[in-house]
Amino acid sequence: CGVFGIYGHPESANLTYLGLHALQHRGQESAGIVTSDGEQLFVHRAMGLVQDVFSQSQLEKLPGRYAIGHVRYSTAGGSALKNAQPFAVDFALGSLAVCHNGNLTNADELRAELEASGSIFQSSSDSEVLVHLVARSSQPTVEDRISDALARVKGAYSLLFMTEDMLVAVRDPRGVRPLCLGILPGSKQSGLRDAHIVASEPTSFDLIGAEFVRDLEPGEMLVIDQNGMRSLRLTEKAAPHMCIFEYVYFARPDSRIQGRSVYEVRKSLGEALARECAVDADVVIPVPDSGVPSAIGYSSALGIPFEMGLIRSHYIGRTFIEPQQSIRHFGVRLKLNPVATILRGKRVVVLDDSIVRGTTSRKIVKMIRDAGAREVHMRISSPPTQWPCYYGIDTPTRRELIASSHTVDEIARYITADSLAYLSLDGMIRAVRGPEVRQETSGGYCHACFSGEYPIAFTPPANGKRQM
Ligand code: 5GP
Ligand code: SF4
Ligand code: MG
Repeated sequence: CGVFGIYGHPESANLTYLGLHALQHRGQESAGIVTSDGEQLFVHRAMGLVQDVFSQSQLEKLPGRYAIGHVRYSTAGGSALKNAQPFAVDFALGSLAVCHNGNLTNADELRAELEASGSIFQSSSDSEVLVHLVARSSQPTVEDRISDALARVKGAYSLLFMTEDMLVAVRDPRGVRPLCLGILPGSKQSGLRDAHIVASEPTSFDLIGAEFVRDLEPGEMLVIDQNGMRSLRLTEKAAPHMCIFEYVYFARPDSRIQGRSVYEVRKSLGEALARECAVDADVVIPVPDSGVPSAIGYSSALGIPFEMGLIRSHYIGRTFIEPQQSIRHFGVRLKLNPVATILRGKRVVVLDDSIVRGTTSRKIVKMIRDAGAREVHMRISSPPTQWPCYYGIDTPTRRELIASSHTVDEIARYITADSLAYLSLDGMIRAVRGPEVRQETSGGYCHACFSGEYPIAFTPPANGKRQM
């Protein structure tokens, strides 16, 4: 998911709308904005993409100088309007809105406990637990109640809370999901004061002309209100474990996270892959878009020409009509089509970021071969994905992850590639960490989906299935 918040701007809804656009890659299922005019909250949420959820007239119904927004991709809770965020409720101290990127690993236990003592839930989302914990805390201020609630939850969270006149941004003690602070400078001429912005990725700052200030620290809680901004620490202490998959796939390449350019990291993943598993070939092509920077790195490290051998359509929606007559590669062709002149007669290396079920890769390899390639070698810029993520990325169950039950050779045969190789865990970590190991970024990473080393305890879902 993606979160965006702004404190102190007359166009808060419009800017949040634009900010969510720049975070759309983090979730396409639903979008929502809650604003405040200082007295009360205004809410609009719906299923779909940001541009479909908000019309100009809808944005005009969201007045006020404070706003938070969310784009959702479901991990826990299923895809439905009732789970669309931000949530907004009234409680003893006033109104409260909240939105969440991540996944709470003890939400089921907390929910059972809250329900047993009378709470009524409106959604099946793990994030709603937070609202109840804040509402039921006996602390005197909202800020204290939020700390109180966070002392009870476990898991990965980048959170935004908003009351009528306060914005609170929090990153979990391990800093699994990104969250950064920006500023939109005011001007004396127009009488505008500086506005504070908090967002999942800094791509959203560029779009609205805001400046990047810094990443929030793991375990940091930032409170922004009339008195300015103050930074507090959560009670739970833990070693940092930033999600390494944000660098591999999830974040936008033009983002900078924890001081590292995502584009540069992906390029070095490709260079590392070239060092570890070179292949003699005529052309290097990416699976667009996520494979592009690593393919550039791989190609330049080996001196093999880089070409766009697959062209991606950026206009496919989620609903489409499949023709009755079955067309070869139809599903994948909606998104990708080969450029035959680039591929014909060539020994081709294809770069992708990960293999999940293997079904896409299999279709891509066949499509490239059908276009006339002589050899097709697949290179993956991360290690085999063998373990489900419980911290906010939607990976399927172990059974569905092809690498959890198949060797690399078996996967190569399944996807019908002439060869297949993955980047090693060490190679990935070194590429992400970068050449100069600075103190502040030398903390660890979460790489549980590749290594099985889970940094946060979780209760495995009872039916062996991903929580829905
Ligand atoms: P497969 O066919 O192996 O299941 O899919 C692999 C493709 O899925 C890769 O091209 C990769 O970019 C993409 N991918 C990896 N992780 C995710 C994810 O979390 N969500 C989505 N939608 N695609 C992903
Ligand atoms: Fe990221 Fe993988 Fe860890 Fe999930 S398990 S937080 S996707 S590194
Ligand atoms: Mg991809």
